[in-house]
Amino acid sequence: MSDLVTRILRDVGRAVSDHKLIEHGDKIMVAVSGGKDSYAMLDVLRRLQRRAPVRFELLAVHLDQAQPGYDGAPLRAWLEADGHPHEILREDTYSIVVDRVPEGATYCALCSRLRRGILYSAATRLGCNKIALGHHRDDAIETLLLNLFFSGRIAAMPARLVSDDGAHVVIRPMIYCAEETLAAYAAERAFPILPCNLCGSQENAQRKQMKALLARMESEHPGVKGSVFAALGNVRPTQLLDLGLLGRSDEPKRGAPGAGEVSGASLGAGRLRVLGE
Ligand code: SF4
Repeated sequence: MSDLVTRILRDVGRAVSDHKLIEHGDKIMVAVSGGKDSYAMLDVLRRLQRRAPVRFELLAVHLDQAQPGYDGAPLRAWLEADGHPHEILREDTYSIVVDRVPEGATYCALCSRLRRGILYSAATRLGCNKIALGHHRDDAIETLLLNLFFSGRIAAMPARLVSDDGAHVVIRPMIYCAEETLAAYAAERAFPILPCNLCGSQENAQRKQMKALLARMESEHPGVKGSVFAALGNVRPTQLLDLGLLGRSDEPKRGAPGAGEVSGASLGAGRLRVLGE
């Protein structure tokens, strides 16, 4: 076994255990886009399946979105040669996206929303209780920065997420894996990668900027990406300003010792009152 796969297996095992991603009896739909990350995910989950103490099923599902020039043959051949149980879906989301997205705007948001809906329905039809997506550490930290810089929100990607209607659990077993490790593993295994830009859509420009920013920071300060990622598991809610998080257990009770020391939030409220008088 190569060093790369050992490292990936260790990271996936840690994510599975930390976030309880896989349980006995699960039937997991593994979403395989044909990109390096999803190939690596399927490959590694299969290895984990062989050695795990719990029994679970894997079903690889690939969605052909009818993009011009699409050729899924290399992926199908790989799935068959490696003996992965799989299902290929075909839905023309390409025409819908081209039709609905205004000129000059990027396709990716609508495209991925449609894809998610199709995968959720397929999971129900195929009896899968979980859907595994191949997002990794770098996706999570890029998303954090995107939300921070452009959405005024501190949010990234959870390792485990129950869908809004409670019907599906989305899991991200690769969330602790560095993208460069997955890229090196994909090259080592010569996965037959399908390009994801056949639709002519640009990869989200802002995400590219985040990637470039992180790469520059990492080259100047090695370890920065690891530090940003570690912050996602090291949140101090009392040192933020979200009023929803300030129903705090450390807040002194009225009349209790220390109640006269006004917290930042209530100090703000007091100031407003004074200004209004
Ligand atoms: S690159 Fe193309 S296929 Fe990938 S999400 Fe964007 S629009 Fe969809």
